[in-house]
Amino acid sequence: MRCALCGSGRLTPVGELTSGVRWGERLRLTFRRPGILKPRPTFDAGLARACRDCGALFPFLDAYERRQLDAAADDLTDVEGAGPHHDNGG
Ligand SMILES: [Zn+2]
Repeated sequence: MRCALCGSGRLTPVGELTSGVRWGERLRLTFRRPGILKPRPTFDAGLARACRDCGALFPFLDAYERRQLDAAADDLTDVEGAGPHHDNGG
């Protein structure tokens, strides 16, 4: 794996990523509610690698969250206020 910003191959091993606000609290990726009574699709990015050369941080989902994301992916849409509406072909 290479850094997407500077191209360095010197990324750290996978570390545990938390917000630092509360113990164990993860960074959370939340999408728009798919329907009135449906919960907002939410995924915790609990892992990350960092680039040793430019310091870029690459958060990502663990295997369980990644499967949840993949299962829900076809129904995900931009959050409100994310910019101009675009047709995703669906
Ligand atoms: Zn880098």
